[in-house]
Amino acid sequence: MITVENAIEAILKEIRPLGLESTDILSALGRVLGADIRASRPNPPWDNSAMDGYAVMASDTAGATEASPVSLRVIYDLPAGSVPGEAIKSGEAVRIMTGAPVPDGATSVIMVERTKEGQEGTALMLAEAKEGDNIRRKGEDFKAGDIVIKAGTVVRPAEVSMLATTGTPFVMVHRRPRVAVLSTGDELADIHDEPENGKISNSNGWALSALVTACGAVPVQLGIARDNKESLKEKLADAMKADCIVSSGGVSVGDYDFVKDVLKEMGSSMIFWKVAMKPGKPLAFGIIGGKPAFGLPGNPISSMVAFEQFVKPSLLKMSGRRDIFGATFSAILTGPVKVRPGRMTFIRARLDAGAGQFTATPLEAQGSGVISTMVRANSFIIVPQGSSGFDEGETVKVQPFDPSVLQRDTPGY
Ligand code: AMP
Ligand code: MG
Repeated sequence: MITVENAIEAILKEIRPLGLESTDILSALGRVLGADIRASRPNPPWDNSAMDGYAVMASDTAGATEASPVSLRVIYDLPAGSVPGEAIKSGEAVRIMTGAPVPDGATSVIMVERTKEGQEGTALMLAEAKEGDNIRRKGEDFKAGDIVIKAGTVVRPAEVSMLATTGTPFVMVHRRPRVAVLSTGDELADIHDEPENGKISNSNGWALSALVTACGAVPVQLGIARDNKESLKEKLADAMKADCIVSSGGVSVGDYDFVKDVLKEMGSSMIFWKVAMKPGKPLAFGIIGGKPAFGLPGNPISSMVAFEQFVKPSLLKMSGRRDIFGATFSAILTGPVKVRPGRMTFIRARLDAGAGQFTATPLEAQGSGVISTMVRANSFIIVPQGSSGFDEGETVKVQPFDPSVLQRDTPGY
């Protein structure tokens, strides 16, 4: 049986980033830039004022105090968005607003709070200005020709700001993977139907589609295939339109577990079957028509754990991401964890950031069909393959699967 680490390596060897497409910068949020972004103009585009106040020659304000202000003649007003008039000469000032270009001759801006209106078109400077005060220099942010965002960067609001300021309404990003999601089982009922006579609701189809969406990929819900080869083949033929195939169920050793056989019959090269992990052992991975195909186990938690470990990094890699693995945290156990050694075990837990110290609380009821435990959990405690577990107070490795672990509860709201 292949280890989790070797399985990840074997899978990622087969996965390539998808091609590029053009999109508007707001739709690019969360996606990966396929090309460097170069600025065609500097920012700021010219020296401009960081304050509302007066543009002056700093030397004119030498010795100015509240008690003995320096009076300067105001030669014009300069609101943001307007172009400076004539250059300032000694003894003159320009009333300037934040963001307006600094007029020639001015060497600093003195903030309005350090001035007073004087008589007949003059203003009183109540403090000395130093050269360069309150002036934002042309190109201090970036210069024309600079690479302002590198290819491979994930677009966040900060990158949207940069793209907008450089006048870039459209960018090239990696395509979002389209992921065919297929559930298998004669026992499965559609969510809209009342399950009866031995049927259960198809939860995996929805859970896996949600996981796909949470990765920034696009689920293509193929619904339910029945436990016979014809039904599986028919559904898998539909799946070939997608970039990747994720099925659940039918990969175990039961009499009706045909997914592996059908994948093989459809010309898939099977890379491995069964991983030394718990839950999630009966996992098949192959390539069918050039597309990665994950046959996840049917138990709801097994399929979600396997998705997190194998499918998520794969979809992120296809999306052009380089940071494809989730961070893990060291946390103190609030209770014991006991497992049978031999497989890497993922224990549903609550990770708590507490008072600067992470704690991990293993939850009751770890059965691979117990969805309510998954609902209460926000992370997995990872028990290494050879370990039989840990005692309360020991430090363990924890993998959060829920971004809200970085948020905190705010009582009173
Ligand atoms: P299998 O791997 O097909 O033997 O399924 C293992 C267990 O998972 C069985 O109890 C199935 O009923 C259950 N199961 C399989 N597929 C789904 C699904 N799509 N939604 C909910 N439970 C499922
Ligand atoms: Mg089944």
